[in-house]
Amino acid sequence: MTQNKNILISGPCSAETEKQLVDTALQLKDTGLVDYLRAGIWKPRTNPGGYEGAGVKGLSWLLNAKNETGLKTATEVATGKHVEDCLNFDVDLLWIGARTSVNPFSVQHVADALKGTDAMVFIKNPVNPDLKLWIGALERIQKAGITNVGLIHRGFSSYGNSEFRNAPLWQIPIEMKRLFPEIPMICDPSHITGKRARIFEISQKSLDLDYNGLIIESHISPDEAWTDKDQQITPSQLKIGYENLVWKKKTTDLPDFQLQIDEFREQINFYDDELLSLIRSRMNIAEKIGQLKRSNNVTVLQNNRWNEILLKSIVKGKQLKLSEEFVKSMMELLHVESIRLQNEIHEL
Ligand code: PEP
Ligand code: MN
Repeated sequence: MTQNKNILISGPCSAETEKQLVDTALQLKDTGLVDYLRAGIWKPRTNPGGYEGAGVKGLSWLLNAKNETGLKTATEVATGKHVEDCLNFDVDLLWIGARTSVNPFSVQHVADALKGTDAMVFIKNPVNPDLKLWIGALERIQKAGITNVGLIHRGFSSYGNSEFRNAPLWQIPIEMKRLFPEIPMICDPSHITGKRARIFEISQKSLDLDYNGLIIESHISPDEAWTDKDQQITPSQLKIGYENLVWKKKTTDLPDFQLQIDEFREQINFYDDELLSLIRSRMNIAEKIGQLKRSNNVTVLQNNRWNEILLKSIVKGKQLKLSEEFVKSMMELLHVESIRLQNEIHEL
């Protein structure tokens, strides 16, 4: 079920030809679901030699698609010149891509070009998982006097194989939402998954985290797309997938719900307190170990012991139905803190 407050941006990764763009836009219009037609006009490519976008002539296609369908338009900007070109072609929403939000010089360049306009600007998370860079990019745009801003969670690149093209690392957008509760956050499941089969699973997850909408790549003929073909879907697949999404309520006033959730939350608070006290007890022992190592001139880091702790915790975690990824991250945090305390003792 759709709700008007949730924004849906869809369209091809890249504007390839006028026909491809207008035909996709017409089909998207027919779904009755899409608010903004997206299309990349300037494409940041990892390697040279790929399709780098249609450039300014693509903006005239985008304008024609807007005139034919009545859909508002959206594209990525990376420079001040891009901003000017887009405003000349009446683009309704500009977004700053992940390879741009990572670079404060580029963001400032875009911000300077935005001064004095009433543009609507969305900022993608930077490619690397750096919350401060994302905040910095947002603040540069806000300081330019732009109030109509939003955020796009498109995942974070990592080295080696991963189940995602860009790992979602949900804790980062969750923290961003906590710090900026008034700023809409939308999800880009296409660039997170890189695979069309998982787009709606990730979309649902974002809606369950109370996101304000989605940006999903769609193409009249995805297998023939010039960029990102594995993650694009047809407008009719978009309609089917989107209509199956479940939009949950923020909360409910039903007394039964309130009673039960209050009780559960009390229990969670109790366990959180217990956890912290247990961690303090563990750190007390770590400090004693630190003193013992110091008086015997033994190194703080003991790799064999750390390996042993990690392996046994993962096995125990499995028995308790705690994921390996979670147990590993949690034990790493504990270990780093324990090392920090022991280092303090060694520096005394
Ligand atoms: C895009 O939206 O097509 C794109 C290039 O995205 P990102 O900046 O997230 O890689
Ligand atoms: Mn793309």
